[in-house]
Amino acid sequence: MTRIALLGSTGSIGTQTLEVVEQLGDGYDVVALAAGRQVSLLAEQVRRWRPKLVSVADAAAREELRGLIGDSTRIVCGEEGLVEVATWENANLVVAAVTGALGLRPIVAALQAGKRVAPANKEPLVIAGSILMRLTREQGLPLVPIDSEHSAIYQCLRGEDPATIERLVLTASGGPFRGCALADLAGVTPEQALNHPTWKMGPKITIDSATLFNKGLEVIEAQWLFGLPVDKVDVIVHPQSIVHSMVEFQDGSVLAQMDDPNMRTPIQFALTYPHRVTSPRSRLNLAARKPLSFEQPDLDVFRCLALAYDAARAGGLVPCAMNAADEVAVERFLQGRIGFLDIPRVIERVMERCDHVAEPDLDALFAADAQARRWADEECGC
Ligand code: MG
Repeated sequence: MTRIALLGSTGSIGTQTLEVVEQLGDGYDVVALAAGRQVSLLAEQVRRWRPKLVSVADAAAREELRGLIGDSTRIVCGEEGLVEVATWENANLVVAAVTGALGLRPIVAALQAGKRVAPANKEPLVIAGSILMRLTREQGLPLVPIDSEHSAIYQCLRGEDPATIERLVLTASGGPFRGCALADLAGVTPEQALNHPTWKMGPKITIDSATLFNKGLEVIEAQWLFGLPVDKVDVIVHPQSIVHSMVEFQDGSVLAQMDDPNMRTPIQFALTYPHRVTSPRSRLNLAARKPLSFEQPDLDVFRCLALAYDAARAGGLVPCAMNAADEVAVERFLQGRIGFLDIPRVIERVMERCDHVAEPDLDALFAADAQARRWADEECGC
């Protein structure tokens, strides 16, 4: 029996995870839920799944939820609440789909408690990849990612000797501004940036896809998950989002994983791992597809991707600071307080200000995260 604790249950990945669990049926149950402030949706989920434990953002959301579901379920809140859900004794799989750095402590706690974790948000690995991979090795548990590119690579690597990998090739849709020159991007509005051509996602990740910052996070995520130097992780733009990523081996052979753009396949793969089970989803029809195309990303236009490579090479606190700076910059951009091209500018300035520490512990990382947020607000003029 797979008993799931779901962190981020009302978000895009969270709601799709519940749909997949519903389809999987026997053998899968949801035993604990954590969400933020979408209390009415969470209340519906509680009525459907009857978890023993639920966590929300804060005390106000807790009272609101209690008003909707009564006293039958224990309700906790805040980061402590997330950790409690992530370590819930009855759960044996933690699906971690909380946006941003907030997901880190719960994942660490879940791994320490010996739970299998399926990370859907990439920030924890970007911030603390070294710590998370060490914990994973110590526990002897597979870390099966839900990010579609990393799920693709994970699938391509099954049964392969990691020593024979030449490079990983992450595909990127290119976002709504593919092919644009730098000058075209200066006046971009939040509405334009939120209009992603192939993927329906939350606002933060959609902006990150428009800047290619999301791909930068994925490069660092891949570096940790697959234990390769960042210069062996390449990015190729593939607007149709059918090839989800590829692995090139030392003999020159390239394996790709393909599917229509959807998150249910990687979610199901992570839930049912190491097994593959039938899915009712419609099948990829390659003959009915437009031609598949590939092109190099322009790192001079999409500076965020170049910055992510710089951060990965610098290591230590820098990827953490980069991530925090982006979270602030994207929020300020969505509020209309800075321009689209200010996002990489703010990130670069914060990275320059960041201290160099070789093997930071979690406390040092959280301190760097907080400091980077203050610097980012300064650089935003807020
Ligand atoms: Mg992805």
